[in-house]
Order: sequence, then C-alpha cells, then structure tokens
Amino acid sequence: SFHKSKGQHILKNPLLVDSIVQKSGIKSTDTILEIGPGTGNLTKKLLEAGKKVIAVEIDPRMVLELQRRFQGTPYSTRLQVIQGDVLRTDLPYFDICVANIPYQISSPLTFKLLDHKPAFRCAIIMFQREFAVRLVAQPGDKLYCRLTVNTQLLARVSHLLKVGRNNFRPPPKVDSSVVRIEPRKPRIEVNQKEWDGFLRICFNRKNKTLGSIFRQKNVLSLLEKNYKTVQSLKQVTGETDSKMDFSSFGDSFEDDAMEMDDDGADDNEMDVEDEDGEAVQSEFKDKVLAVLKEGDFEEKRSSKLTLQEFLYLLSLFNKAGLHFS
Ligand code: SAM
Repeated sequence: SFHKSKGQHILKNPLLVDSIVQKSGIKSTDTILEIGPGTGNLTKKLLEAGKKVIAVEIDPRMVLELQRRFQGTPYSTRLQVIQGDVLRTDLPYFDICVANIPYQISSPLTFKLLDHKPAFRCAIIMFQREFAVRLVAQPGDKLYCRLTVNTQLLARVSHLLKVGRNNFRPPPKVDSSVVRIEPRKPRIEVNQKEWDGFLRICFNRKNKTLGSIFRQKNVLSLLEKNYKTVQSLKQVTGETDSKMDFSSFGDSFEDDAMEMDDDGADDNEMDVEDEDGEAVQSEFKDKVLAVLKEGDFEEKRSSKLTLQEFLYLLSLFNKAGLHFS
C-alpha cells in the first residue's frame, strides 16, 4: 500500500543504507535532518550515528509507523518527527541533512535547503540519476545547464554513489545517485533577480554563441527597457539593489528539460533578427556587444562557460549599466 504519488520507494538493501550513512561523515554531536523517513530504515542508522534526528514526513501512516518502531527504545528521546510537507515546513537548525526523497521535489527542495540559514555542513541526498548528473556537471558536459550553474553558485556538489533501481521496494522506473551538497561558505553574493534573469537568457539556447543570443531583438529590447528604467531611477534614488531570494531557482529543472532538446543544431541557422533600422536600437546593440567583446565572450557558448565566467560577464554588463531585472 505504498503511495506512488508520494514517491514512496523504500530502501531495502541494508548494506546500501550503511554505505550512505558512512559516506555522510556524521559526527556523534550532529543534529540530522531527514526528509521522508518512510518506515525508518535510514532513520535507525542515523540515530545510531548522530545525536538527534529530526524527520519530516508527509504521510501520517508513515509517521505512525515510525513512532511505533522507536517507541520504548532508547532512540525515542532523540527522534523528533514533524508531520508535513517539507516544502511548506519551516526547517529547524541542523548540521547535516540525509535523505532519500521523492524525486518530484528534487529541485525546490535543493534550493530550499541552500537558502536555509545558518548554512548546514552538508546534505547527502538520493536523487534520480539524471538530476544528480546535472547537479555535478562541468562546463562542456552534455547535461550542463542552468540548474547546474544555479546550484554550483550556492554549493559544491559531488557524486557519491550510483544506486540501481532494484535497491528499492517497489523499484522506481529510474536509476538513482547519492550526491553530496556542501553550501559555500562564505556565500557568493549576487543580486538574485539579476543573476536569474541573466542565466535564463544565456541558457535559453545554451549552444548558441552569446554573440547571437545578445543580438536577438527580444533580448535587446528587454535590456534597453531595463536600461532606461535604471537610468531614470538612478536620477531619483541613487543605486538600486534587491534582496537575496533564491525561491525562483527551484524551477530550474523543469525549464532545463526543454533546454535539453537544444543540441546546437540551430547554430547554422541564419540570423533571423529583424533589422528595423532604428538608430537607437543599433546604438544600444553596439553597447551590449561591446560588453561581450570586452570580456571576449562573443563567440563563447553557455554550455561551456564556468561559473566564474558567468559571474564575470554579469559584472561587466552591470558595470556598463545593463541589467536583467
Ligand atoms: N527514507 C525511506 C527509505 O529510504 O526507505 C523512504 C524514502 S521514500 C523514497 C520517500 C518518503 O518521503 C516517503 O515516506 C514519502 O511519504 C515521503 N514524502 C513524500 N513527499 C514528501 C514531502 N513533500 N515532504 C515530506 N515527506 C515526503
């Protein structure tokens, strides 16, 4: 009677559970956040390794089963179960997160964790294999995408363990991987709205050259509109800056699924921008392209840019008064 919609695939291989716990590097003083404890196979090992486990579980039947399992054992005082949807729960302080999660919440959960303060030491999470590969991708890898860059802005990510579908009951339709996510300390400070707007444009066609992306009429008009707004705002208030907020990063994976179709085939397309001959537009276009030239980015493609290159390019745009939000 497992709920497919809640991604209830129980880990049935005890050696695998041991291996996950061992690779987590849990200290005996750690408060551990577990998401989706289910029947508690992983929870038990976490209780053995750490000081306290706080487990967030959406399914009341699982919560009951979990409480029953540890009732009257020495573990029960060190286990706190929160019943609820982890995405709608205010997370408590934790040192480390270990979780075998339902895959449909992978993206929003990752960014919720990375937005949590104070930053935890690391998170050890089971993801669908393809999602995991995207998180750890490097420039030039096939699955390098906006999700990758957004995650790596906030954390260092490494692949720990491949897990075949037969380790679960019932077996899911996809293979899995365990990944380690370590929040960057200190954080790399960016204006989140700027960064998000910038990356969406860069990855809209990740295999196109930046030169051709930033010649597109819709991109130029957006930048020009923002440019004018900022110029007029500056006259009134001086500098503008908005608060950090990573909530919109959570939709990266869904959007990236569309980017995947982009295999670079459109590179040979004719440049279809409409030349309307407006002097202002072309003067503005020169301003934008000058930024790309300054950093030698015109012929480069997002699929091969490092995080540092994205940060540098955005800083060049901003320095020239060009904004994405
Ligand atoms: N940790 C257990 C194990 O490894 O055997 C169960 C893992 S199972 C893949 C996912 C668990 O997450 C289920 O128990 C499910 O009820 C729970 N769950 C699903 N959606 C959730 C949500 N939004 N918030 C908290 N728990 C959730």
